[in-house]
Amino acid sequence: MSESRKAVVVGGSLGGLFAANLLLRAGWDVNVYERVAEELEGRGAGIVTHPELMEALVAVGIPPDEAIGVAVEERVTLAQDGSVLARRPMPQVLTAWGSLYGILKKALPKERYHNGYALESITQDDNEVQLAFSNGHRDQAELVVAADGLRSTTRQALVPEAKPVYAGYVAWRGLVEESVLSERALTELFPYFAFGIPPQEQMIAYPVAGLENGMSPGKRRFNFVWYRPADEATTFKDMVTDASGRVWMDGIPPPLIRPEIVAQARQAAHDVLAPQFAEVVEKTENLFFQPIFDLESPRAAIGRVALLGDAAFVARPHCGMGVTKAAGDAMALVQALQAHASVQEALADYGRQRVAFGTFIVGHARALGAYMQAQLRTPQEREMAERYRTPEAIMRETAVAPSNH
Ligand SMILES: Cc1cc2nc3c(=O)[nH]c(=O)nc-3n(C[C@H](O)[C@H](O)[C@H](O)COP(=O)(O)OP(=O)(O)OC[C@H]3O[C@@H](n4cnc5c(N)ncnc54)[C@H](O)[C@@H]3O)c2cc1C
Repeated sequence: MSESRKAVVVGGSLGGLFAANLLLRAGWDVNVYERVAEELEGRGAGIVTHPELMEALVAVGIPPDEAIGVAVEERVTLAQDGSVLARRPMPQVLTAWGSLYGILKKALPKERYHNGYALESITQDDNEVQLAFSNGHRDQAELVVAADGLRSTTRQALVPEAKPVYAGYVAWRGLVEESVLSERALTELFPYFAFGIPPQEQMIAYPVAGLENGMSPGKRRFNFVWYRPADEATTFKDMVTDASGRVWMDGIPPPLIRPEIVAQARQAAHDVLAPQFAEVVEKTENLFFQPIFDLESPRAAIGRVALLGDAAFVARPHCGMGVTKAAGDAMALVQALQAHASVQEALADYGRQRVAFGTFIVGHARALGAYMQAQLRTPQEREMAERYRTPEAIMRETAVAPSNH
């Protein structure tokens, strides 16, 4: 390749770190610019792993035997009275956002990661991309990887027609320490990937590593995602209104969620979920919710700029594939760069592959989530809602990499 192989990655979360580590190993001179000024590691959430994620970690240089999560053997669906409705054997490793972030950050030389750099504008010509940051810093590169998430500044500048669409439901999330759980929750819930399916809702929960990657009994945590419909114009709008009256339709920062909204969710947990789940929700200190969005970008490559991870496609979380998809994007990008003589040709190839995959995964996750939408708009949505409402279908398909691609 004739270029001097200088790359910039915008966004230093998991997608950006996968891309930066892989580009560095492929010989690129790479720098990561992350908007948030502080360390990101506090973001707590459980992450389901899939074989492709493990392959990407190995490609980054993480030994394949490194313990990255907690292994579970079986799935269970609990009825509202706490009894077991259905079981399904399914070995899987569950990790946490913070554990993956720590591993990937450690793999990248410190001087290549820059906190407190928010991209403001991006332009390009045939030879390079020019970037300007809100702190006055400027840079240029032969290749830019935009890993700046659902509200990507880069995508808004280069593919403005691609916009996130609210799915009609939210996910309440939380992590609770293993050590505070009752004997009942520890034996009937903690060892499993567990499901609850009240009408139009879904609870999924599983154990993950504790702080500082704690894997031993007593040191782990339990993670849950509880989907609830929230009509955009009424319930949702109220939920994202903070105490000062400001409305955050794109998602409200967790500390600004009004206490009565959190209290209502805790009460609803007792009303609609199995007692084991209600206990977990009750004991979660930082209970918060995120709106669920679909995002499909018609392009994942624009000249010398590649959109990667959530910047390009956001599937509803039911496949548990967000991080795996970001890692897969990074692998495909580096392979395309190795296979083509010019950056633009490589990116055109990358774009074709990842738009096809992104479109497929967003469609699949939309079908899995249809029955939680506050309103089912089309006959197709209604058909999907029926198909994916049984415990068997939910346990078979949720957090599993779809096979027909
Ligand atoms: C409820 C829920 C459950 C989920 N569960 C799972 C799961 O089980 N498994 C899974 O794999 N995935 C899951 N996901 C999805 C997963 O979290 C994302 O797909 C994944 O984190 C994608 O990461 P990313 O790096 O592309 O984007 P992000 O993590 O959003 O990172 C974008 C980064 O860019 C930075 N940034 C933004 N704008 C700028 C700018 N202008 N300049 C510089 N930096 C900027 C941001 O600060 C941020 O650090 C879930 C998501 C949700 C909402």
